[in-house]
Amino acid sequence: MTAVARVRGFIAGRFEQLRVGLSSPGALPAPWTLADWEVEQGVTFRFAGAAGAHLEVDLERSDPGRPCFVRTRDFNVYFSLFGRRASALSPSEEALLGAVVGAIRAQERAFPALRASLPVVGEPPRSRVEVREVEAERALVAEAPGMYYLNPYVGCIFGCTYCYGIGRTAFVRDLGGLPQASWGRWVDVRINAPALLAREVLTEPPGTVRMSPLVTDPYQPLERRYRVTRRCLEVLRESDFTPVVLTRSPTVVDDLALFRTMPRLLVGVSIPTDDDGVRAVFEPSAPPIAERLAALKALRQAGLRTFAVAHPMLPMNAAALVEAVAPWVEAVRLGPMAEKAHIAPTYARAGFPEALGDAWEQDVAGALRAGFAAHGVPVNPTTEPWNSFR
Ligand code: SF4
Repeated sequence: MTAVARVRGFIAGRFEQLRVGLSSPGALPAPWTLADWEVEQGVTFRFAGAAGAHLEVDLERSDPGRPCFVRTRDFNVYFSLFGRRASALSPSEEALLGAVVGAIRAQERAFPALRASLPVVGEPPRSRVEVREVEAERALVAEAPGMYYLNPYVGCIFGCTYCYGIGRTAFVRDLGGLPQASWGRWVDVRINAPALLAREVLTEPPGTVRMSPLVTDPYQPLERRYRVTRRCLEVLRESDFTPVVLTRSPTVVDDLALFRTMPRLLVGVSIPTDDDGVRAVFEPSAPPIAERLAALKALRQAGLRTFAVAHPMLPMNAAALVEAVAPWVEAVRLGPMAEKAHIAPTYARAGFPEALGDAWEQDVAGALRAGFAAHGVPVNPTTEPWNSFR
């Protein structure tokens, strides 16, 4: 049985009451309905409301050290909103979340508490990597109408210390009965993703497809052996879908010839700091900043629609980052570090303890916005298709 199928089997047993309960008439306040759920990046339920409104609820293993919307016995509960900019919850959304959290708590009482093992972070970069070839059940995961994500791999050899995928994938490994492995030292290769995708693009409504948001990098070194990302892009090239590729790896330029045949493609590079010393502390196994900038420049000079992402914004010289990045991008996305207190020791090791404060981040964001604006580069654009990379 494949890893994904095994996790699905566990979920079906463990969460059957919850899923069925959330789907039953009257379980949710009108007009909300349970639209979808998946277990690839933690446990996610997606709800559809009026006028295209969508709200996503994510469950991760209960961890008192990490802030969340609500903590139940077994879970940290998070939510995401799609399709509107306001972050405050409407009364309708509050009612939905209240119903969902109530259902989760009721379901928990019927089961023993979840086993909780912890992932390891920061193992030496040259230690052995556990590579598994797994069969996925689907390639495209719908986030909201017209927005999908696709993971060619799960797990990431770059092993960034702050990666948001650490907690989510550790939770799924627990659910699947797998032992915990150090983040950055295991990768699941979703070998059938291109074949699945070829079928799905014939049946799903076209939209943007993000590769890859949270739990992997599509151009990590294993891509040279497996080419799952390349083969997925070849499928998308023949479809009406718009790929949005984001990576930290200069390996992305291997596919320049393919990219040139994909006029809708957006391709971006994560450059969260100009300082490679900072990069080496926060992202010890990821490619140096100079290599990423060279890749970004090559992509732009090839005539592609490029963007850069500084999310999170690591300690940096904002003016230097703007000068290095602005000539090679059509747009930029900035975002804060989530849960900074969780990795406070890393900030101290990098020699920037002051960057833990929100004020530091706001100052840097302001300087970056002004700098990119002076170059005519939009920051965090909300118009299609730029709103689809995060
Ligand atoms: S490259 Fe991305 S997915 Fe990989 S460890 Fe770093 S942040 Fe996580």
